[in-house]
Amino acid sequence: MPEGIRPGEITDILKREIRAYGRHIDVAETGAVLSVGDGIARVHGLENAMAGELVAFPGEVQGMVLNLESDNVGVAVMGEASGIREGDLVRRTERIVEVPVGETLLGRVVDALGNPIDGKGPIERALTRRVELKAPGIVTRKHVSEPLMTGIKAVDAMVPIGRGQRELIIGDRQTGKTAIALDTIINQRGTDVFCIYVATGQKQSTVAQVVDVLTQHGAMDYTIVVAATASTPAPLQYISPYTGCAMGEWFRDNGKHALIVYDDLSKQAVAYRQLSLLLRRPPGREAYPGDVFYVHSRLLERAAKLDDALGGGSLTALPIIETQANDVSAYIPTNVISITDGQIFLESDLFNAGIRPAINVGISVSRVGGDAQTKAMKSVAGQLKLDLAQYREQEAFAQFGSDLDTATQEQLANGVRQTEMLKQGQYAPLPVEEQILSIFACTPQSGGDGDGGVDGSKSFVRTLEVSDIPRYEREMLAWVRANHPELLERLRQAGKLGDEDLAAMRETLAAFAGMFEPSASAGGGAAAG
Ligand code: ATP
Ligand code: MG
Repeated sequence: MPEGIRPGEITDILKREIRAYGRHIDVAETGAVLSVGDGIARVHGLENAMAGELVAFPGEVQGMVLNLESDNVGVAVMGEASGIREGDLVRRTERIVEVPVGETLLGRVVDALGNPIDGKGPIERALTRRVELKAPGIVTRKHVSEPLMTGIKAVDAMVPIGRGQRELIIGDRQTGKTAIALDTIINQRGTDVFCIYVATGQKQSTVAQVVDVLTQHGAMDYTIVVAATASTPAPLQYISPYTGCAMGEWFRDNGKHALIVYDDLSKQAVAYRQLSLLLRRPPGREAYPGDVFYVHSRLLERAAKLDDALGGGSLTALPIIETQANDVSAYIPTNVISITDGQIFLESDLFNAGIRPAINVGISVSRVGGDAQTKAMKSVAGQLKLDLAQYREQEAFAQFGSDLDTATQEQLANGVRQTEMLKQGQYAPLPVEEQILSIFACTPQSGGDGDGGVDGSKSFVRTLEVSDIPRYEREMLAWVRANHPELLERLRQAGKLGDEDLAAMRETLAAFAGMFEPSASAGGGAAAG
């Protein structure tokens, strides 16, 4: 042993080195990849990691901690997992997944982490918010009382939606689910409602089309699109609705109003099932993990109308669910039906029969929106609902071809025309006063005084061919817009419609009746007025 070095000193140095080494691979804060595959990494270490925490892999790749097990941590890789190798170092970030929020996002298309993917440059990241937050409690909420107009006659009249409500749009493939949501977004133009459209598990081309449509209708100015397409990893598809929700909550919590569309939650559930199976969580019904209900309930609970003391903001949710062969009793549909405040059922049969929007008005409901419906609309919608319910009943009988009494024939004739009047093209939302006028025109006039050739109990379209009704509606509305803007203004301002309001509508419709040329005469210029 050389002079001047004592054994005690060597032990000290070794001990110090060992202590420092221990810090270097602190198993509480870092970990090492044990295995990686299918977008899931098992990591040894990370003992202090929290559920939902972001962790960093080498090369800017991030992951989300999902399973905390006794000897390892299951991490969903959010990005390209192919570069990750066994033994790679994983670091905690001590951050739960956060995304940018605020008005700077309006007009932008972002991915599930809030990064812009529209090629319009970076987004000012002034504000961020956790994607998973607890929903507001009962005492902070107020009941739903203000309308959220979709501009779609069948919805606004019969399944009215209120701000803060959760209304499910459910139906098979290609039944017009997305169309209803998009029209609703387009109809928010010029209002104080901001919109968020979350595309989960859809084709990239479909999302591009949606953005196109929204841009063409000037709706991107007040809309954020969150896209996690079918080609993005399952973890990103899974969190994308929460991401959109966090952005919507920012509006809600700042006293503003927002509408969020989740298109669609079936695909989010599938992404979550995939993740869970890869994490080896026990599969349950339809192979979904047991907590898939919670995935949707904690998301939809965040839609709310806040109390005035908290600014009175609102977040309205329109989740979309795709069914197989109209089977609403499958696992995911029943879950989401039980969480929401009502459903709009869309059916392929109706869609194929040309009834579009293909809403089955018999079974569609809105459980809280009635309070939010404008009084004026309520005045005409009550009768319509009743008429259509009777029509459906009689229609079933009429199929047997038995002799029908005049009253029944009259109900059928009315029902056919009302159904025709409720048809509406895409991207053509109507303001509430025009909806009222259209519905009034096809309502049998109980208190009618025989004006304009319309007798005691007949509606203004009763004598028209059913095929003429769409043209009648178009021309009638154009004529009223041009010649009687004061009537529209009156309906817009009106509360419950009184006798005078009804008389004013009757007078105007009677005046138009004299001008409308039924098709046989090959007219069409009646709108010239
Ligand atoms: P998917 O299951 O593929 O998501 P979806 O249920 O969202 O379909 P949409 O994409 O909204 O259905 O609509 C299906 C097709 O029907 C589209 O081509 C759309 O343009 C058309 N369509 C939807 N609503 C109407 C309508 N009111 N009038 C006319 N065409 C419509
Ligand atoms: Mg769709």
